Amino acid sequence: RIGFVRGAFVPLWEAVIPVMDRGFLFGDGVYEVTAVIEGRLVDNDHHLQRLNRSLGEIGIANPFSIGKWTEIETEIMRRNELRNGLIYIQVSRGVAERAFQYAEGLEPTVVMFPQFSKVQSNPIIGTGARIITVPDLRWARRDIKSTSLLAQVMAKHAVTQAGVKEAWMLDGDFITEGASSTAFIVTRGNELVTRNLSQDILPGITRRTIIEIAKRHGLTIVERPFSKAEVLEATEAFYTSASTIAVPVIEMDGVCVGGGIPGPVFRSLYDAYLQDVMTLPVS
Ligand code: PMP
Repeated sequence: RIGFVRGAFVPLWEAVIPVMDRGFLFGDGVYEVTAVIEGRLVDNDHHLQRLNRSLGEIGIANPFSIGKWTEIETEIMRRNELRNGLIYIQVSRGVAERAFQYAEGLEPTVVMFPQFSKVQSNPIIGTGARIITVPDLRWARRDIKSTSLLAQVMAKHAVTQAGVKEAWMLDGDFITEGASSTAFIVTRGNELVTRNLSQDILPGITRRTIIEIAKRHGLTIVERPFSKAEVLEATEAFYTSASTIAVPVIEMDGVCVGGGIPGPVFRSLYDAYLQDVMTLPVS
C-alpha cells in the first residue's frame, strides 16, 4: 500500500514519524475517514469540511484546500488501484520538544492511507447486528474528531469480548452514539429519532446524508436524546458510519430489538443511500 506521509507518497509500512510528534505523545491531532465505493469518494466535501472544523477547533491551521486534499486522495486511489475501501486522513499538530503547551505555527504532520474493504457488501446488512451498551467515558468535546481514542479502544475491546458488532454508549440513561457510529431508532409512532447535534456527539456525515434521504422519503425526523429503554421499545434500530453506511440492530445487551430482524425503514434508507452514491462521479 502506498500512503501519503509528511508530503510524499511512500510505501505505507516503511513510512516513519518522529517520536517527538505531538500526535504520538499527546494524541494532539484529528482525523477523517471517507469511504470509496466503486471508485467514488463518498460525501467527500462534507468529510473535508468536518476535518477543517476539527482542525479549527483545536487551533491547527488546515495545511491544504479542499481541492488539494481531494487531489491527494485521488492520487492515493490511483497508486493503490483502490476502487472499494476507505481513505484515512490524520493531521497532528507537529513535531516539538515534549511540553503540553505548544508554539504557534508548527508544521502539521499529515498522514493518509487507504484501507481495502467492500463497504457496500457487508453481510451483516442482511442478518442484523447484535450490540452492547457501555458507559460513554469520553471527554466533553466529542464533536471534535480527535485522535485521542482510548475510550473507543476500550469500548471496542468490550465489543470483541462480547462477540458482538458495536457498542452504543450511555450517558446516564441516554444513548449518545455508537463507539464509531451514529445511533438511530424508529419509534412506534413511526418517527426516525437520532440524538441532536451538540458537543456530546460527533456530527456524523452519514447521519447527515441519511437524514436528508429520510426527509425526501417523507419520514418524520426528530433530533433529540433517546434512552436505552426507548431502544428496546423501538420498531427498528440502526447505526450509521462512513465505513459501514448503515447497519440494522437486532439485539442489545442480549434483548431482542425491532422484532429481531432488519426493518423496512432501515432497508429503504440503505438502498437509497447506495443508489445516490452510484450517481456520484468516479475519481
Ligand atoms: N460517531 C463516532 C464516535 C464515530 O467515530 C463515527 C465514525 N467515525 C461516527 C459517529 C460516524 O461518523 P461518519 O458517518 O462521519 O463516519
